[in-house]
Amino acid sequence: MDFNKTRYIPMSKRRRIYEGKAKVLYEGPEPGTLIQHFKDDATAFNAQKHEVIDGKGVLNNRISEYIFTNLNNIGVPTHFIKRLNMREQLIREVEIIPLEVVVRNIAAGSLATRLGIEEGTTLPRSIIEFYYKNDALGDPMVSEEHITAFGWANPQEIDDIMALAIRVNDFMTGLFMGVGIRLVDFKIETGRLYEGETMRIVLADEISPDSCRLWDAKSNDKMDKDRFRKDMGGLVEAYTEVARRLGILMESENVVHTGPKLVV
Ligand code: UDP
Repeated sequence: MDFNKTRYIPMSKRRRIYEGKAKVLYEGPEPGTLIQHFKDDATAFNAQKHEVIDGKGVLNNRISEYIFTNLNNIGVPTHFIKRLNMREQLIREVEIIPLEVVVRNIAAGSLATRLGIEEGTTLPRSIIEFYYKNDALGDPMVSEEHITAFGWANPQEIDDIMALAIRVNDFMTGLFMGVGIRLVDFKIETGRLYEGETMRIVLADEISPDSCRLWDAKSNDKMDKDRFRKDMGGLVEAYTEVARRLGILMESENVVHTGPKLVV
């Protein structure tokens, strides 16, 4: 299949497959593909807090593209095929495993609260946690016992998911360390990719400052969605700085106001 010759389907004619809090999935140009569209919506606390932040979707599209491309290049299987435009990327359709997989290197957020560990404490080793993806229940934490008993994934798949999570953590820790950013924790999602008779677990969804905690190595300034959760302001500026440090955004590029322009 030649993904460089993607058939153009006007936005209004596309079939919407799924709309989430920050992204929309549309039917793709070829069977087995989807288009993942990044919105500017920011939500937190199970969508109780909601705002539209001009430019966030564009930044997350670019940052996630960069990370997924690098992961594909080092042999970590992902759903990502290519970026199509400012807000959209072409992806492979996968069967999403209903788990949010969190990897933690430094205590923060719910771990710091739940276990009474001071935020910023380096953990004795990286820790992987599973949450059941269910908005109505507020994504409760679950163990491998729950996952296998309820059939969300089998033991082999859990092993594959954990191996994938560790590889992503190793790669991203180094990537961000190289640009003066500490990878505190992050969330990934995985899916089953069916290719003929075979099935493999691949990385899905996105990896962006919406789904990571990123702290400036020198100042410990937050460069992630905690700026929104904690009403700190400066979210687009922080995401722009992440993109700039990774070398994926030119100094002069402005991602704000990238919607249709009114021509007068
Ligand atoms: N996270 C996420 N989506 C969620 C919950 C968490 O992307 O629905 C990310 C979050 O940005 C952080 C990591 O997973 O990088 C760990 O989050 P935590 O469990 O501390 O939850 P929070 O404090 O965000 O409620």
